[in-house]
Amino acid sequence: MEKGRIVILGAGESGVGAAMLAQKQGFEVFVSDFGAIATQYKEKLQELNIAFEEKQHDADKILNASEVIKSPGIPDSAPIIKAIKKNKIPVISEIEFAKRYTKGKTVCITGSNGKTTTTMLTYHILKKAGLNVGLAGNIGNSFAALVATTDFEWYVLELSSFMLDDMYEFKADIAVLLNITPDHLDRYDYKLGNYAESKMRITQNQSSEDVFIYCADDEETLKILKSTKTDAKAYPFSIRKKIEEGAYLENNNIHINIHLNDQLTMSITELALQGKHNIYNSMASGIVAKVLDIRNTTIRESMGDFKNIEHRLEHVAKISGVDYINDSKATNVNSTWYALESVGSEVVLIMGGVDKGNDYTMLKDMVHQKVKAIVCLGKDNKRIHEAFEDDVEIIVNTFSAHEAVQVAYHLAKKGDTVLLSPACASFDLFKNYEDRGNQFKTAVKEL
Ligand code: ADP
Repeated sequence: MEKGRIVILGAGESGVGAAMLAQKQGFEVFVSDFGAIATQYKEKLQELNIAFEEKQHDADKILNASEVIKSPGIPDSAPIIKAIKKNKIPVISEIEFAKRYTKGKTVCITGSNGKTTTTMLTYHILKKAGLNVGLAGNIGNSFAALVATTDFEWYVLELSSFMLDDMYEFKADIAVLLNITPDHLDRYDYKLGNYAESKMRITQNQSSEDVFIYCADDEETLKILKSTKTDAKAYPFSIRKKIEEGAYLENNNIHINIHLNDQLTMSITELALQGKHNIYNSMASGIVAKVLDIRNTTIRESMGDFKNIEHRLEHVAKISGVDYINDSKATNVNSTWYALESVGSEVVLIMGGVDKGNDYTMLKDMVHQKVKAIVCLGKDNKRIHEAFEDDVEIIVNTFSAHEAVQVAYHLAKKGDTVLLSPACASFDLFKNYEDRGNQFKTAVKEL
């Protein structure tokens, strides 16, 4: 006996994971993708005998759904979503759906920047502490697929605002909101307030049994907290002021107080992740660990031996005294600011690509101080020229990673840093940010 008809829109990692779980739960399942489905996912659907279509959305097969699971990449403005909503069919995210079928508890991490780093670090600490823990979400593997195959006691989930937008009953046991800075505003009517509200959903439905961890230095977070109350036990973190319960920085030491009698103190020089932004990320992960009563020695050890992930301030090589750093994942202005902040030398900055309505004002001072040349990498970087022509003498256009690296190589002198930190999306010239970072690394290795 079928339970109902679940239609899944989008056949990527998230959609196919949802299809697997829905089938396992006994639903009739149909997957529809407006584009071409990648071979690996098509094969998976075929292997499981799950009905699907590609390169179209056939309304007849979709509008008879009892519930629709929407992949995060599909905007609410898509005609098919409008039609579904007009027919009063509930639309939810894969995360919301998956959570119904596990008793596992969740640590949910969101923010404009630092999600992946903090998610990976948190997972690393929890795993090292011996917890039965899974890793999923925006990080690249589907929560639903994980729930369909393995049952963990804890899940560390990276959640994007697009995922949070379609979550209603979901509740995080531990929620982390790292920061809120402008990103993806095209999906939020160009209103930062709408985007901030979406991020705050991380704390929806939480009660006093639950935990909410946030950055007390982040203006937008503080602003939204005034209008959106949470009942959760809140633990802020800050590098500017002392925090009684939460985490703070003093004399280059991080202090984390959750249970007041067992404070964790750790020098920032011991942290595997360097740079100011990573102090924030480490504090957030450290609070999660303390909330879970993980021993200080384990936390300290894991925060010290964590291996940073590719494409985030990744040191690629030192050639003729010049450091080459791949920060291809910096796809917005704020993350590029932190990348520049973390570099102690003069910089040849490779930036540009698809500009998502960027406001470069916050970068101007930093660029003025540290950047000797900008190598634009992208089809159209008019806005970068306009933004920085008064701050930097040399701004050059290039149209491939190879060309950008060659130009940067000739501009950099011994002691300088060549930093790829684009502040833009990659889709004009590359498949994705990984492809951009990999092409950069290959070009550096060919020097
Ligand atoms: P996300 O998953 O949110 O995109 P990542 O951890 O992948 O974040 O990091 C993306 C970029 O943002 C990296 O280039 C990194 O240098 C920068 N970054 C990381 N953490 C922070 C933070 N807390 N604040 C600002 N920028 C950050």
